[in-house]
Amino acid sequence: MISAAIAEPPTAATPTPTFSEAATQPILPPVVPWNGKSRALAVAKNDPWITPSEKTDFRTTPSYDETMAWLRKLAAAAPELKMISLGKSPEGRDIWMVIASREKKFTPEELRKNGKAIVFAQAGIHPGEIDGKDAGLMLLRDMTVRGTKRDLLEHANFLFVPIFNVDGHERSSKFGRVNQRGPEEVGWRTNSKNLNLNRDYAKIDTPEMEAMIRALNQWQPDLYVDIHVTDGADYQYDITFGFNGAGGHSPAIASWLERTFTPAVTNDLAAMGHIPGSTDAANWIDPFDLSKGINAWLANPRYSNGYGDARHLPAVLVENHSLKPYDQRVLGTYVFLESTIRFTAKNEKTLRQAVETDRRAKVATIPLSWDVDLAAPVTDTIDYKAIESRTFPSAISGGLRIEFTGKPVTTKIPYRRPHVTASVARPKAYWIPPAWSEVVQRLQLHGIQFERISQPRDVKVTMYRLESMRIQGTDESKRAVEEPQPFEGRVQITAQPVAEPRTEHYVAGSVRVPADQPLGDLVAVLLEPASPDSFLQWGFFDEIFQHTEYIEGYILEPMAERMLGSDPKLAEEFRQKLASDDAFRASSKERLRWFYSKTPFLDERWKLYPVGREE
Ligand SMILES: [Zn+2]
Repeated sequence: MISAAIAEPPTAATPTPTFSEAATQPILPPVVPWNGKSRALAVAKNDPWITPSEKTDFRTTPSYDETMAWLRKLAAAAPELKMISLGKSPEGRDIWMVIASREKKFTPEELRKNGKAIVFAQAGIHPGEIDGKDAGLMLLRDMTVRGTKRDLLEHANFLFVPIFNVDGHERSSKFGRVNQRGPEEVGWRTNSKNLNLNRDYAKIDTPEMEAMIRALNQWQPDLYVDIHVTDGADYQYDITFGFNGAGGHSPAIASWLERTFTPAVTNDLAAMGHIPGSTDAANWIDPFDLSKGINAWLANPRYSNGYGDARHLPAVLVENHSLKPYDQRVLGTYVFLESTIRFTAKNEKTLRQAVETDRRAKVATIPLSWDVDLAAPVTDTIDYKAIESRTFPSAISGGLRIEFTGKPVTTKIPYRRPHVTASVARPKAYWIPPAWSEVVQRLQLHGIQFERISQPRDVKVTMYRLESMRIQGTDESKRAVEEPQPFEGRVQITAQPVAEPRTEHYVAGSVRVPADQPLGDLVAVLLEPASPDSFLQWGFFDEIFQHTEYIEGYILEPMAERMLGSDPKLAEEFRQKLASDDAFRASSKERLRWFYSKTPFLDERWKLYPVGREE
């Protein structure tokens, strides 16, 4: 009914659907026919190693238990494979990782020693977007028991997490991904505590992320791949991939990914009949008007790709296109993984050089956030493989409505790049008092080095007084939301940091975190209050904004009289404030508070961010 213009319009032959049909059957834009060469990667129906998804012609995806049972059988038959658990989910499921090593080296130390590139791919951080799992199963089979891709393990080791968000994966139904073309039933985006793992890289609130960060530190992959499916606009690209580019924390890695990796993998995908593109394809500046262009994205470290950038770990985000059928998406992911392993193995030397360059760079100014300036003149354009669309007024929303016709068109559109909106000078070190143990514990999980002092020490530091604190009132996509609201289980805040040089007394157990270590950029983005993924903005320091003592009016009144009498300058200041500030004059509370703030009884540490910068 209401969206009939997109699908078949109801005719005399098509009866009007019942309400329950209308509300449960999403009407997706038309599918573009596809018959790529990669179809040949699926095995015949009688193959003993057919994967559960191949068995149903990619109509379905297996459950957690079915997936792990299939992998256990494969690992039992293939000596090159071993399954290990990275840790447990809140509901007690193991997060399994498959290690593929031709030499059967199954510890991080041994694996590292063989010198081959280590490619780490994870699927199902958002379990509804599960393409990576079914592609990985096929690939693991082909590089072992089936033998068609055995050469891949000659020059590389492959680590594969088939389902990262295991609890979300098991919250499976037909209603998990309304904008997506298959499989029939999929899991839910968030974990069993309703937290989004792909917002948790910096703050590490979930046991799943704790397990993943530990694994990244232990196994030290050369390349980290995080596999998703998009939402958003229709376009021709069936598989897109991206990473933090120029302007981020890892320029040498970004350049390797852009100039070396991307062209090679793009060629391989195209040769197998796919339509590869950049993840920027989804970033329409105006969701109703493609002619305004798209923008590049520099992710903050709450996301896998931003986290990789901040810690100089080459990290690639894969976004398959939600409107393409499941078989096309899984096969594209297979080709992507195969090409990535092959290419990384061959170019492992230049990749490791790039990583070393970025780890050593320790630039003087560290970027903290980025944004796109829509008012700036357009300097770049790209040829965009679009699907024709039309926009018209909507009687449903009262706003605009867009329809995609299914017809491929290529169009030249503006391409905007982000610029740095906040940055900070790299200090020598940060100092954290032991009371803030939650923060210190997370630094340790990230693999950041620090020393803990056993004797008290006075240190000259720059501290921040945090003015104009606000509970964050905007949601993720930056649409203004009037009411402040919790996000990812936290009360996020923003504040204006005002530098305050001090000699600070650090008690025994305080922590000194050097900023010139390989993870120094990550240290800054976690500890600088102006950084959107700082512990401060995530609400780890909300305590510092409360008053915990007060003064009785009957004590303050006579004190204020005496202060005015003994200090003509103060008296003049008070007179002027009364004359110029109506709200102040009208508020007895504010007037008393003003005098309180002139005494040393007001908490001197109110709004003082306890982390100091040693310059
Ligand atoms: Zn996703």
